[in-house]
Amino acid sequence: MEIRAPNILITGTPGTGKTTLARLLEDQLNETIDFPKFEVISLGALINEKHLYKNWNEQFQVPEFDEDLVCDAIEADIRRGGKIVDFHSCAFFPPDWFHYIVLLRASNTNIFDRLSERGYPEPKIQENVQCEIFQVCKDEVEDSYPKEKILERNSDTIVEMERNVEEIIELIKKTVEDNKH
Ligand code: ADP
Ligand code: MN
Repeated sequence: MEIRAPNILITGTPGTGKTTLARLLEDQLNETIDFPKFEVISLGALINEKHLYKNWNEQFQVPEFDEDLVCDAIEADIRRGGKIVDFHSCAFFPPDWFHYIVLLRASNTNIFDRLSERGYPEPKIQENVQCEIFQVCKDEVEDSYPKEKILERNSDTIVEMERNVEEIIELIKKTVEDNKH
């Protein structure tokens, strides 16, 4: 079944600003566009809440999500469209689920500061900073989605964040309009 109402994936290393951007987009898209209603799926939270994992990572004290359980849990919502999925990983989704993949980037110092502020243990902070340096999310996105669907954007400053929100809203407005014809 073709998904007509756009879905957006917001991905990137923890600390790049995914959740912040997703919430802003949800609010502002719903203010600007009558239909569809946009809704954030905060996948990390959902994985915990619905127990969408089979193993527990002792080192980092996080669940190792199960790809099939995750996809099954959100498929019906995704088919309805208007979903803004917030998650750090992206290779396991069916490739046609998302109209746009927003890949957020941030400087090492910003990732470090933001995750320190969150109270992450040092090894987990270092691991994420390394991920950003070695472009783990970027490689995953580029291996999984066609270039024209990918928006790689910096999210180091509030100005950049606001610019990203504006740009994505314009793009989604246009996509929704085009789908009506
Ligand atoms: P993620 O969901 O990718 O882990 P968050 O959205 O939780 O990242 O953001 C991490 C922290 O960085 C939050 O405190 C948030 O307010 C801040 N932040 C996010 N994006 C920006 C930005 N573009 N400029 C300044 N601070 C930001
Ligand atoms: Mn987050």
